[in-house]
Amino acid sequence: MADLTIESIGKKKPSSIKGDVWLTCIECGEAYPPFDFVIYRCQKCRGLLEVRYANLPKFEDFSGRGVWRYSASLPFEKGVSIKEGDTPLYTVPRIETEIGIDTLRVKHEGMNPTGSFKDRGMTVGVRVVQELGVERLACASTGNTSASLAAYGSRAGLEVIVLLPAGKVAMGKVAQASLHGAKILQLDGNFDECLDIVTKLANEGEVYLLNSVNPFRLEGQKTIGFEILEQSLEEVGRYPDRIVLPVGNAGNTAALYKGFRELVASGALKVEEVPKITAIQAEGASPVVEAIKSGKGQVERWSDVETKATAIRIGNPVNAPKALPAIRETKGTAISVSDEEILAAQCELAEEGIGVEPASAASIAGLKKLRSQGVIEDGEYVVCLATGVLLKDPDAASFARDAPREIPASVEAVMQAILNS
Ligand SMILES: *Cc1c(COP(=O)(O)O)cnc(C)c1O
Ligand SMILES: [Zn+2]
Repeated sequence: MADLTIESIGKKKPSSIKGDVWLTCIECGEAYPPFDFVIYRCQKCRGLLEVRYANLPKFEDFSGRGVWRYSASLPFEKGVSIKEGDTPLYTVPRIETEIGIDTLRVKHEGMNPTGSFKDRGMTVGVRVVQELGVERLACASTGNTSASLAAYGSRAGLEVIVLLPAGKVAMGKVAQASLHGAKILQLDGNFDECLDIVTKLANEGEVYLLNSVNPFRLEGQKTIGFEILEQSLEEVGRYPDRIVLPVGNAGNTAALYKGFRELVASGALKVEEVPKITAIQAEGASPVVEAIKSGKGQVERWSDVETKATAIRIGNPVNAPKALPAIRETKGTAISVSDEEILAAQCELAEEGIGVEPASAASIAGLKKLRSQGVIEDGEYVVCLATGVLLKDPDAASFARDAPREIPASVEAVMQAILNS
């Protein structure tokens, strides 16, 4: 039986395991050695795997900067690093006042080396690859995973193949994958179909899969949660009541929860201090919201998905079995927002000087909606996750406001244009 309660980490090491790190199936509890062979899912029941440790972290075990500050809670001391993590927690005074809650902060994960939080997962994932001795890496991607894998894989000197849904990936992301030297294959299918195909290739041993079904990636991503807690104590004076995030494959949702469970198990965090994990999806791609609303134990795949927030245009979120308990056990919730609401929130963030890609703004749009529905209390301290930077999707940004105007090259024409709004 799946046991993903807050207290479910910290059980004793299984007798079959030699080292201090292993993989456990979240459905049947079967344990596997982490690096003896390539494994993505439980061999007995196909359940998702979770990385487990004999030693669980306390805050005093953390030192240094970035993702590897948290090596006490990771499988290695160091990874293939381009200095990921250590992202800013921004104030947004105008949005905070407008929403009318006590404290609002935006954790800008777009400030990572390739412009999204995916780098936190890749620095760990590509380090694992070195352990396994594989040479060809691959992913399906709505864009950011491919940009990140291209950079980290290439830094490690490995071959990178990326499968993208043709015409549905923002230009900045394709540009990154290209320049970092990945082989880019555009398929005439959606993201979920790309993932089905690359998963088959991975199962046949042709490529090593670095999508977020890979449990090691989530280990890197859980450091977002650690950083939010530490920065919050330092800059706000308390832990957040709630973390609001955009959800696609639900890897981040799962990862945040994993990190908090480890801190609870080590005694570093009280159960009631765990922030409420609150998931936001685009209306045109919201199977997680549907499952939470209906109280179902599983997410049903949507075969047709559409949203301008292309990073979360996903109908079959692989990490749902980890993410649904994350939302429920932390007393969070899930809600969907329209593209109009997302783009309006993107503009509001931009007015505070914070440039994000559309998917990232879903968190602010969702917070506004939840607040207007009375779900968020006045006194709450909320952290919204901004997952990717503005320049990822220059098309979406260029046409968000008035189009640039063409005028003659003269002082008079410029002055006239300035005065005529
Ligand atoms: C990958 C990504 C997401 C979705 O994250 P999941 O962990 O798959 O839910 C959201 N926003 C951006 C910008 C992303 O790159
Ligand atoms: Zn199993």
